[in-house]
Amino acid sequence: MTLEKDGFKYPHIDNKKCIECGLCKKVCPVLNPKKEEKELPDTYACMNKNEKIRMESSSGGVFSLFAEYILNKKGIIYGAAFNEKLEVQHIKVDNEKDLKYLRGSKYLQSDIGVTFKETKKYLDEGKFIFFTGTPCQIEGLKSFLRRDYANLICGDLICHGVPSKNIFDEYIQKFNEPVKNIYFRNKENKGWNKYQVLINTNSKKIYSDHDKNEFMNKFLSDEYLRESCYNCKFKKKHRISDVTFADFWGINKVAPEMNDEKGTSLIFINSLKGKEIFESIKENLIYKKVDFYQSIKYNQSMIKSSPKHI
Ligand SMILES: Cc1cc2nc3c(=O)[nH]c(=O)nc-3n(C[C@H](O)[C@H](O)[C@H](O)COP(=O)(O)OP(=O)(O)OC[C@H]3O[C@@H](n4cnc5c(N)ncnc54)[C@H](O)[C@@H]3O)c2cc1C
Repeated sequence: MTLEKDGFKYPHIDNKKCIECGLCKKVCPVLNPKKEEKELPDTYACMNKNEKIRMESSSGGVFSLFAEYILNKKGIIYGAAFNEKLEVQHIKVDNEKDLKYLRGSKYLQSDIGVTFKETKKYLDEGKFIFFTGTPCQIEGLKSFLRRDYANLICGDLICHGVPSKNIFDEYIQKFNEPVKNIYFRNKENKGWNKYQVLINTNSKKIYSDHDKNEFMNKFLSDEYLRESCYNCKFKKKHRISDVTFADFWGINKVAPEMNDEKGTSLIFINSLKGKEIFESIKENLIYKKVDFYQSIKYNQSMIKSSPKHI
């Protein structure tokens, strides 16, 4: 995978090593789209009762409850985290303390690295795995595995698209001091709907409103998404993951009693495995079942690609 000048990694075939078996084409989820189920997923507005975790999460903190459930079964979680160079990569977490690295949306494409291979190894050993990521990453994982595993649980997101790493790198160079870390979805000052970007340097905490922040503003107006995000093949009503996590934008219109400005999740339960986990964790949630179509009225990224900026 090579980083190209648009700020995204692309695969390149090493012709000296390729044996031309054609397997990459046979398993490619873009070339071999899976048939979509007809039944709509169960749809809920949810808030994690643990307010500290909810404040650390982008939406209602439901990802953390699913993850804790798997950890209690001595399982492993995979998800996106920043490394010390402020690059986003998929990492393995096997304890509750380290779940904090996965919490919160990082608006960059996460590098999968060797996590698909590792996942297969653990699945074959019988370990429970909760693999989370963008819809394309989950489709990629399932295509790579080429069979179903009862011990694999997948969680994807409603995904707007991923912005260019080069533009992000240029953005963080603009600060006078090195940026130590960045939180794209800080709710402390203005709440969940009017979230802010928080940048920490050695001496300062810099908050900016998301709609005025230079990087976020242009990301949200679709100026520098990955080319394939403008024609995403994985936006659909019924995902192949067990659960889909999202923000419940428009909650004030659908169920205003479920908005306290600390974050409300919209979740879709896509499978029996997802349903089983939801049933086990729901005592730790404030939740309400909602109509599927009403829930995506203000979140069209569930089914439609972002339009390319003019
Ligand atoms: C690039 C991107 C675009 C998104 N676009 C939308 C959208 O248009 N509409 C919407 O409703 N929601 C969107 N989301 C999802 C939303 O922001 C929350 O991540 C989701 O609701 C889960 O929230 P939570 O409170 O349950 O948990 P959180 O703790 O906030 O979520 C953590 C989860 O997000 C995953 N994650 C974080 N960053 C990445 C990344 N770069 N790549 C892959 N996985 C990542 C982690 O692995 C973990 O599974 C997007 C997320 C990302 C990363």
